[in-house]
Amino acid sequence: MKEISCKLLVIGAGPGGYIAAIRAGQLGIDTVIVERRRLGGTCLNIGCIPSKALIHAAEEFDKAMHMAGGSSPLGISVGKPVLDLAKTIGWKDGIVGRLNSGVAGLLKKARVKIVGGRARFRDGKTVEVETETGLQVIRAETIVIATGSAPVELPFLPFGGPVVSSTEALALTKLPARLAIVGAGYIGLELGMAFAKLGTTVTVVEAEPRILPQYDAELTRPVAKRLTELKIELLTGAKAKALGPKGQALLVETAGGEDRRIDADKILVTVGRRPVTEGWGLEELGLDMDGRFLRIDDKCRTSMRGIYAIGDVTGEPMLAHRAMAQGEMVAEIVAGHSRSWDKRAIPAVCFTDPEIVTAGLSPDEARQAGIEIKTGQFPFTANARAMTKIGEAGFVRVVARADNHLVLGIQAVGHGVSELATAFGLALEMGARLEDIAGTIHAHPTQGEGFQEAALKTLGHALHI
Ligand code: FAD
Repeated sequence: MKEISCKLLVIGAGPGGYIAAIRAGQLGIDTVIVERRRLGGTCLNIGCIPSKALIHAAEEFDKAMHMAGGSSPLGISVGKPVLDLAKTIGWKDGIVGRLNSGVAGLLKKARVKIVGGRARFRDGKTVEVETETGLQVIRAETIVIATGSAPVELPFLPFGGPVVSSTEALALTKLPARLAIVGAGYIGLELGMAFAKLGTTVTVVEAEPRILPQYDAELTRPVAKRLTELKIELLTGAKAKALGPKGQALLVETAGGEDRRIDADKILVTVGRRPVTEGWGLEELGLDMDGRFLRIDDKCRTSMRGIYAIGDVTGEPMLAHRAMAQGEMVAEIVAGHSRSWDKRAIPAVCFTDPEIVTAGLSPDEARQAGIEIKTGQFPFTANARAMTKIGEAGFVRVVARADNHLVLGIQAVGHGVSELATAFGLALEMGARLEDIAGTIHAHPTQGEGFQEAALKTLGHALHI
């Protein structure tokens, strides 16, 4: 048994944990990070990066299919494309591998010690890790819990065989002919649309009356329309009940109460993610919880002195950039800087087709908070750049205080709007007013002009509609 001591111990090397460790190392803090699987966590290995790689490949394939079918208005026609999914997955794995090495290099540069293995709390200052070379005990003055989240399993559809989570779906080397998806949240729809573009027949089962229930209906309408275009069957208000005979079908109760059998080669369950808080000695510490998540304050402190928690393990929004921002903040707090957390400006992107971006408050959220608002939206049908990309679906919407025009929230749905998320976050972070956005010269022709026009529209004088 080996024993080491450090000032800061980070448990979990996802985007929250590895950023906390890198920043702590940069600040001269003696830091150790423990990871049971691969550096980069869910996001880099089985989440954000692999899913966006698959989505990109699917878009390219879909475009090529249209050109081959002679239906492209661009005047380009090509031969019928052929998919080699094993090669696509190999390409995706190559990106993941390069990023893994990048994270290892950054940790090394910041002089962070990496310990491979599963951490288990002995007490609030001590952790033991079963490494390849034996038991390692680590004592630390301060500990950051960054153990992330895992897919929720349905008891009547346990993972295994044909029932897969997003992790296995992102590693399939043979395209399933028929895919049933349980859950029309962002992960289910991002992957469902990608598989449909690659040629799979996709059915989505959602218990709620509509897709992406966390967004307002206006924002999700263009996505619902695209699902129809992609011939994805959507069963809303329907409940998945069991695996069908020989594991080749999903049994469902439809909104009308009828039993329905959906034949499928794979069943992808995307009904949410749960924090990784059990089975590694954390429960025994008796930290305060917020439901299933660890309770933290505005400095990411848990209820036990010297223990911080960041990222998915602390609740919604479960997003990589939130975990990273918390990780950076906690490292600076441990170094003695004065920092606190303000979640107002966290943008969220749903990489469906078209994409959805939100930052700050929606009109309903602002009204529910008792704020009198002005709101306006600008459609991409009136945006030249969107037209040149055949991306006229969607709009940008701005929400501002009626009295002083302070921007409270910005939402967009459209092709490629993920790239506008930064501008939206910056506007909120800088406390922009409608006049600031309207008065900023936006490059032409860009979809960003839709943001400027939405601000102008809210002020009552849009120029292009
Ligand atoms: P994680 O990334 O989950 O990392 C936690 C790490 O801790 C893991 O590596 C785990 O192995 C390790 N660990 C756990 N327990 C222990 C232990 N006892 N000892 C040692 N190590 C341990 N977010 C976005 O912002 N944008 C996206 O586009 C996006 N797409 C996604 C797509 C999919 C398919 C999925 C599943 C998720 C996606 N997410 C996306 C969410 C994003 O991946 C998470 O919000 C993010 O990874 C959370 O970071 P984290 O550091 O909190 O935890």
